[in-house]
Amino acid sequence: MFSVASITTSFLDYPSPEDHAICVYFQGCWHNCPGCHSLALQPLKAKNMSLEQLLNEIHLMSEAEHTTKVVLSGGDPLQAESHVGIQSLLQCLNTDGFDVCIYTGFSMEIARYILGRAPFTYAKCGPFKQELQRPSMKTDTQFILASSNQDFYNNDWIKLSDNGILDFTKE
Ligand code: SF4
Repeated sequence: MFSVASITTSFLDYPSPEDHAICVYFQGCWHNCPGCHSLALQPLKAKNMSLEQLLNEIHLMSEAEHTTKVVLSGGDPLQAESHVGIQSLLQCLNTDGFDVCIYTGFSMEIARYILGRAPFTYAKCGPFKQELQRPSMKTDTQFILASSNQDFYNNDWIKLSDNGILDFTKE
């Protein structure tokens, strides 16, 4: 079971210039980053969605919105209450042909430990640091994360961005 606050679509969150994505916002985050832009998603709440229900919602939205890209965000989808279920979710999404980007406030080393061999396409790792804040944006050529300590990694844990800026022209 998962605690899901909302599921929506967005063009801004998947790290490729052309793709919009289904965004699943998980409820609960313990990082307590000063300046957090998602305060309402920090408290842990009761789990409200089974793996089957969540997969069904993602499939329905995929058909309606014509995308196979998924972003798992929050909150933090890798918090202890979720991460066992997250591995199962990632396995199912991979089997069903989805490409997944995970947004976590954990460091790359901890995210790697939590995710094990679970399949995903991108992971954004690192907490939000107010002192390193800058406008976050996605353009045709780059993706700028909200603070420069955060970075994108691929499934082999190779860092793809530099100081939190992913250059699409280098991929
Ligand atoms: S990781 Fe994200 S949601 Fe969690 S406290 Fe930090 S900024 Fe807020």
